Amino acid sequence: MALTRDALLDLFRRSGALLEGHFRLSSGLHSPGYLQSALVLQHPAHAERLGDAIAAATMPLRATVVLSPALGGVVIGQEVGRALGVRAIFAERQDGMLMLRRGFTLSESDRVLVVEDVLTTGGSTRETMQVARAAGAQVVGAAAIVDRSASGQGGAALGVPFHALLAMALPTYEPDKCPLCAQGLSVVKPGSRPIAT
Ligand SMILES: [Zn+2]
Repeated sequence: MALTRDALLDLFRRSGALLEGHFRLSSGLHSPGYLQSALVLQHPAHAERLGDAIAAATMPLRATVVLSPALGGVVIGQEVGRALGVRAIFAERQDGMLMLRRGFTLSESDRVLVVEDVLTTGGSTRETMQVARAAGAQVVGAAAIVDRSASGQGGAALGVPFHALLAMALPTYEPDKCPLCAQGLSVVKPGSRPIAT
């Protein structure tokens, strides 16, 4: 079953995974939106539904394995792999470098679909694509639940077919240039409840 934009937004809001207001992100930047996909994915039925939707959209790429960056991409990668009927493996950091560990392997015959939860700048997806290529595999596409890049086109520059279930531009601002601060709205840390003003 296709997930409409409204149904996806509703799913995120109901799970508390999408907060709208005025937030100070861990980077120190301010944003009118805060996204924590783990709060949706903590419900296995939701994770399965999102995995099914990504699998339906990426089926034509004929991936033979799903590769995700840990930790954020692991749960959704597993669900996409299950729906496609292929392996789901993950890359993780060691000494700052993303790599395959735990005996996970890729070969030249592998067609890799890179899956993560939220695409912000595309940096993490690009790095994961490099892990697959370094192992000799072919990257046939990339996917995410949400593309939250400011342009909503964050996947366009990846150089492979990209699919996000939901594009949602969530701008970030330097605190001294934040229009929400300029309006005098109080800023909250993600995880705490937004302050109604
Ligand atoms: Zn602000």
